[in-house]
Amino acid sequence: MPQVADLASLQDYDDILARLTADLDEARADLEDDEALRAAQEAAAEADEGCATLEREQRRLEGEIDGLVARVEREEKRLYDGSVKLPKELEGIQLEVKSLRSHLSDVEDTELALLDRLEEAEAAREEAHAGLEREQGAAREKAERLGGTIARLEGEIAATNDGRDTCRERLTAPLIAQYEDLRRRKGGVAVTHLRAGACTGCRVSVPPSARKRALDPEAPALCPNCERILVGY
Ligand SMILES: [Zn+2]
Repeated sequence: MPQVADLASLQDYDDILARLTADLDEARADLEDDEALRAAQEAAAEADEGCATLEREQRRLEGEIDGLVARVEREEKRLYDGSVKLPKELEGIQLEVKSLRSHLSDVEDTELALLDRLEEAEAAREEAHAGLEREQGAAREKAERLGGTIARLEGEIAATNDGRDTCRERLTAPLIAQYEDLRRRKGGVAVTHLRAGACTGCRVSVPPSARKRALDPEAPALCPNCERILVGY
């Protein structure tokens, strides 16, 4: 294949590689982005902890209630079993029972209020775990989809690289050096084409003499304006 056509092919391969590599980078970044899943995990853990805290508090209140009930029973037994005879002492026990019952009532109210909060916390926990399951499902689906995309892109990049290598092997070292130098200096575009009398790289009209040079398949001509390799066919 003539050198100039190979240079044009090389540019095509590099364009394709740039696009595939950008797509691959995007797919990999998308795969690594697990923000939604992490947020759902954190929300579920927080909801679990909220319930656990309330459950611990409920157990503590239950223990306190049991202790108070036992003390009330003990004191009332002393009140009625005839073991205490002194009126002043009996009066003291009655006051103690009254005080214990009042305290017991307060603790029971506290527990009722806590049970309401626990019910809300359990509903929130259920919602958070449902949300987590949804995110886990979405993450699995995403991993599967992006895994397929990444494998396909890697395959296409490998095939394009093979084609590019074969193309480069046909070109002389000075031409490759010229091509690479232009690519570095001209935003990745070393080879342009003549379309309707203008250069596709800079869109400037090309004079007839340069158009004629651009038709030579063996000697690369340059666009007089942007100085890229201009292919006229
Ligand atoms: Zn140009």
